[in-house]
Amino acid sequence: MGVENRYGRNAYTRQLVEKNGPYRLTKTPTSPRLNAWKLLVLIVLVNAALTQAQDFKVTLLGTASPAPRPDRFGPSTLVEVGPEKFLFDVGRGVPIRLWQLRIPLGKITGVFLTHLHSDHTSGIPDLWLTGWLQTPYGSRTTPFRIWGPVGTTDMMAHLEKAYQADIRIRLVDEKNPPEGIAIVAEEFQEGVAPEQGSVVYDKNGVKVTAFTVDHGAAIKPAVGFRIDYQDRSVVISGDTRYDENLIKHAKGTQLLIYEVAAARPKLIETSPAVKRIIGHHTSPQEAGHVFSVVAPKLAAYTHIVLLSNADHPEPTLDDLVNYTRETYEGPLQLGEDLMSFVIEQDGSVTVQKFDKQ
Ligand SMILES: [Zn+2]
Ligand SMILES: [Zn+2]
Repeated sequence: MGVENRYGRNAYTRQLVEKNGPYRLTKTPTSPRLNAWKLLVLIVLVNAALTQAQDFKVTLLGTASPAPRPDRFGPSTLVEVGPEKFLFDVGRGVPIRLWQLRIPLGKITGVFLTHLHSDHTSGIPDLWLTGWLQTPYGSRTTPFRIWGPVGTTDMMAHLEKAYQADIRIRLVDEKNPPEGIAIVAEEFQEGVAPEQGSVVYDKNGVKVTAFTVDHGAAIKPAVGFRIDYQDRSVVISGDTRYDENLIKHAKGTQLLIYEVAAARPKLIETSPAVKRIIGHHTSPQEAGHVFSVVAPKLAAYTHIVLLSNADHPEPTLDDLVNYTRETYEGPLQLGEDLMSFVIEQDGSVTVQKFDKQ
C-alpha cells in the first residue's frame, strides 16, 4: 500500500479530473535515518494507528461487469469492519484477489448477495470449497454463512449436490472438518427487504441493512446494502437503475460504492441488445445526479460496464469521469481491483491503491 489519497471532512479536490488521470496519488514520504529505539517506537505508533484507522475498510475485489477481462475480476466488495470480514457478492476470481491480500478464504465471516445474476455468484463454489482446504489459503472450520434474496437457499443446496463427490472424497481422504463445509444460508423473504429496508445482520456493533433497488422488472428481488458501524457507513449499490430508494438509504453515508454502465450514443441507438443492458443499469450522468444528492465523502465506481462492438469502441475511463462531471462536482474515484477505502473515525475516507510489489 505505497500510495494513498485522503479525502478530508470538507475535502473536495478538482485535481481528480486532471487530464493525466482521474486521481492524484501522493507518495508517502520516506523516513529520515532512524536509530533502533526511534524505529521501534515508530513501528508501535504506526501499528496502533493502523489498527485504529482500519477498523472500517472497504476493498474492491472485482470491479468488472460479466465481461471476462484480465484486469478486472467479477463483482465483489470486501468489507472489514470491527471483527467481521464480509463479502458483498462473489464474482469470478474472488479467491485469487483475497489471497493477494493474504486473507485466507476461510476467514470470511459472511457473504451477502445483492441478486442472483451469475456474475455476482459464480465465485461462490470456489470460495466455499477452496476455503475448506486445510491450507494457509483455506482453513475454514466453521460453516459457510450466506445471506441472499429468495433463491439463495436453493442455489446453495444445488451446489452441495453438484460437488458431493469432492466433499465426500475430502472428508475421507483429507479428514477435513465436516463443520467447515456446512452451509448456513438465510434468505431475505419476499417483502422483508421492501423499500423501507430490512436489517439482515446486527451483531458485534455491525449492522447490515438490505434495501430494494431497481435492476429491471424481471430481476427481482435485487437489493443494495448499507453497512453501519460506530456512526460511519458504506453503501453498496448492487446492480441498479437510477433509483430514489437507493438515494434515501444512502443519505449521510461516508462512502458510496456505485455501479455504472456506458456506451457511445450511436451504439445505444443502433443496438437493441446494448440498449437493453444499459436500461438495467445507471448511466454516469445519472450516477452523478445520485452522488450530488447523497453528497458522500467519496463516491467510487465499481461494476464498470463499458459496452462496444466492431464499429463503436467502448467509452474510455476518462469519458466515464467526464460524463459524470456533467452532473456532479464532488469527490469521485474510479474503482479498480484491490483498491481500498478506509473510513476513518473522523468520517473522512482514505484511498489506498494496491501495491503489486
Ligand atoms: Zn445484475
Ligand atoms: Zn452485474
